[in-house]
Amino acid sequence: MPFAKVETQSVDFPALERQILEFWDRTNAFEKRRAKNRGKKCWSFLDGPITANNPMGVHHAWGRTYKDAYQRYFAMTGHDERYQNGFDCQGLWVEVEVEKELGLSSKRDIENLVPGDRFASIDKFVRLCKERVDKFARVQTDQSIRLGMWMDWDRSDADWSKPPDDRKSYFTMSEENNYTIWGFLKKCHERGLVYRGFDSMPWCARCGVGISQMEMHEGYKFVAHKSVFVKFPLRGRTGESLLVWTTTPWTLSSNVAAAVNPDLAYLKVKHRDEIYYVAKGAFTTRRKEEEFKRKEWVEGVPKLKPIDQVFKEKGGFEIVGEVKGADMVGWQYDGPFDELPAQQHSAGYPEDLAEVVLRQKWAPAVTGREAHRVVAWADVGETEGTGIVHIAPGCGAEDFMLGKEQGIPPIAPLDEYGCFLPGFGELTGKSAVDPQTADWILFNLQQKNVLFASEKYPHSYPHCWRCKTELLFRLVDEWFIDMKWRDEIKAVVEQVTFLPESINGKARELDWLSNMGDWMISKKRFWGLALPIWVCDKCSAFDVIGSRDELKNRAISGWDQFEGKPPHRPWVDLVKVKCTRCDGTSSRIGDVGNPWLDAGIVPYSTMGYRKNRAEWEKWFPADFITECFPGQFRNWFYAILAMSTMMANRPPFKVLLGHGLVRDEHGEEMHKSKGNAIDFNEAAAKMGADVCRWLYCRNNPAQNLNFGYTVA
Ligand SMILES: [Zn+2]
Ligand SMILES: [Zn+2]
Repeated sequence: MPFAKVETQSVDFPALERQILEFWDRTNAFEKRRAKNRGKKCWSFLDGPITANNPMGVHHAWGRTYKDAYQRYFAMTGHDERYQNGFDCQGLWVEVEVEKELGLSSKRDIENLVPGDRFASIDKFVRLCKERVDKFARVQTDQSIRLGMWMDWDRSDADWSKPPDDRKSYFTMSEENNYTIWGFLKKCHERGLVYRGFDSMPWCARCGVGISQMEMHEGYKFVAHKSVFVKFPLRGRTGESLLVWTTTPWTLSSNVAAAVNPDLAYLKVKHRDEIYYVAKGAFTTRRKEEEFKRKEWVEGVPKLKPIDQVFKEKGGFEIVGEVKGADMVGWQYDGPFDELPAQQHSAGYPEDLAEVVLRQKWAPAVTGREAHRVVAWADVGETEGTGIVHIAPGCGAEDFMLGKEQGIPPIAPLDEYGCFLPGFGELTGKSAVDPQTADWILFNLQQKNVLFASEKYPHSYPHCWRCKTELLFRLVDEWFIDMKWRDEIKAVVEQVTFLPESINGKARELDWLSNMGDWMISKKRFWGLALPIWVCDKCSAFDVIGSRDELKNRAISGWDQFEGKPPHRPWVDLVKVKCTRCDGTSSRIGDVGNPWLDAGIVPYSTMGYRKNRAEWEKWFPADFITECFPGQFRNWFYAILAMSTMMANRPPFKVLLGHGLVRDEHGEEMHKSKGNAIDFNEAAAKMGADVCRWLYCRNNPAQNLNFGYTVA
C-alpha cells in the first residue's frame, strides 16, 4: 500500500532551526561537547580555507555540511578535535573587488589613491583589502553558524578586534602563515629551485598581471577581431611577396620571422604584375564555412571569403607556379615596421631582454630587421590563414618557443598596461587592445602599400577571468619554482587515500603532477604574500629570506620603520639587506605571491610547526580533508601535497574525500550573471539549513548535485 501524502506545511523548518541555534547558545552546547572529549584520542580535521571575499553561496554549503557531519561523528565517538575553520585572505580576487568598490580602473589608479604618494596609496589599498577580508570572514562565520556548523568560531567584537594571528579561525593573511611560507621558499631556494624566468604569458593589461594557463582556460569568449592580409616583400626577388595573415595586427610591429610548413605546396599567384606566395590548400579553403552554417558566429560579421575570391574581387589572378615550403626556408624579406628603433636593436628589444637573449644564447647579436627570414615549422596549417605564419617571439607563447629554437631575437613591445614602449615610433603609448590602434596600424600598412586586405574574423579568444578584459601575450619576468622534484610529490601522493574511489582521484592527481609545468609563484600586485626574494641593486644576485628573524639579522636599513607590522606591502619593502655576493644593497622584488602558496602551507602554519613541534606532531598529518574535487585537485590538493613534500617529505593528510559541483536544478552551472545562483541566506530562510544539509548528505559525492527549491 502506498503511503498517504503527509501534510507538512504547518512545520516551519527555519523557525525550528532558530530555536535550536538559540538553545545551543544558551546551553553552551559546543563548549560542553568539546570539553567532554578533551584529552581523548585525537581526530584531526584540516579545513581548506574559504575565500573571505563575498557572502557564502549554496555551493559552499556542500563541503561545509560534510565537514560538520564528520566532525560531529568523531565527537560522538569520543575524539578530541581542533574545530578550526580557515579563511583564505590574500590575492587578486580581493583586490579586484576593492577596486570595484573604489571605482578604480587600473594599477596606476591604485598607486595614486593618495594623490602623489605611492607609498601611502599602496598602504591604504592594502588596508582596505584587509578590511574587506575581515568583513566577509565575519559574514561567512555568521552564515556557517546558521548552517549549524560547529567550529570554534570568533563570535564577539572582542574576538574580531584581535589580530588575525590571535583569532580562533585561521587566516592566511596571518604573520605565522606568511612567515611559514618564507620558510618553505627558503627550502626551495637551498635546493636551487627558485628561478627568475622570462616567459610568454597571457596578460591582463587592466589588472596588470600574468594569467596562468589554468586561469586562461576559464575565460574564453567568442568575439570578432579585425584581421589583415599583409605583404612581406622578399629581398632579392623583385615584385615577389609572402602573403601573411594575422588576427592581431599590433603584433606586426614586432614581427621577426615568417613560418611555412616545409611539407606543404605553395602557389605563386600572379596579381597585377606582382607575385604572391600562398599555401595551395589555403588558397581555396572555405574558411569557417561550417561554423557560419551552424551560426557559431558573431552578429553583424559577414561570411568569410576564400582567399581566391579575395584575389578575384581585386581584379583577378593567375597561378604561375608552385614551390615546396622546404624550398622557401631561408628566404629573406622586408618586415612591415622595419623603420622602428625596436627593429634595429641588436639581439632584440628592450635592452634588458636583449641582455638575457645574449647571456642565455637564444639568438645571435642581430637586429630584428636583419633576422627576417622564412623558417620551417611543422605546425603551420592551411585552414585558417595563408599557410604562412607571421612570427613575433615577443608576442605569443608558441612564437617565443619557435624563436628560441630558430635563434630569432624577440621584440617585446608592451608595458604592463598593454601599451607600446618607447622605441615604437608613433605607436609608443598606444594601447594594443584599443580598436583605434588596429585602425592606425591598418592605415599605416596601407600607406606603405603592404596591406592586401582586411576583414572581421570571429574566433574564440581568451579574456581575463576576473575582469573580462581581452588578454594579450607579453614576455614577462616572473618567479618560478622548478618542479623537477615532482617524483617526490608523487611518492607522497601514493601514501594517501582518495575517496570516493569511483572518481579515480589519485590517478587524476598523479596525472596532473606528471604534466604540470613549473610553478609560477609571482604576481605583480599589492595585496598578498610578500615574496621574500631580495635582489642586489648592483650585481643582480638574489637571495631568499626564510624568516622574520633572518630578515632582522640581515637588515641594514628600514627595519625600524617595519618593526611591529605584518610582512605586507608597502612596509616590508622598506627593509634592505646586504648582498652576499658583493658590497651592494639588496631590495625586495615588488611581487606578491600566488595565493595557493597561502592555502598550501596551512598543514604547517595552523598546527604549530614552527612554535610548538610536539603539538604539531599531535595533529599532523590530518586524518581527513574534504573539498570539491574538480575545483581543487590542481589547486589546494596540489599545493598542500607539494608544500608538505618540500617541508617534511610527509603526506599532509591521510584521507581525502572529494565531492562534485553544485549546479542549478536543471543541471546548469550557477553564475551570478546568469541569474541562477542561489545565495545561502535566501536558501536558509526559504527551505531551512537542514533541508540543504539533507540534500547534500544524500547525494553521491561522485556526482554533481542539482540544487533548487523544486528538488528540495
Ligand atoms: Zn583583468
Ligand atoms: Zn651584489
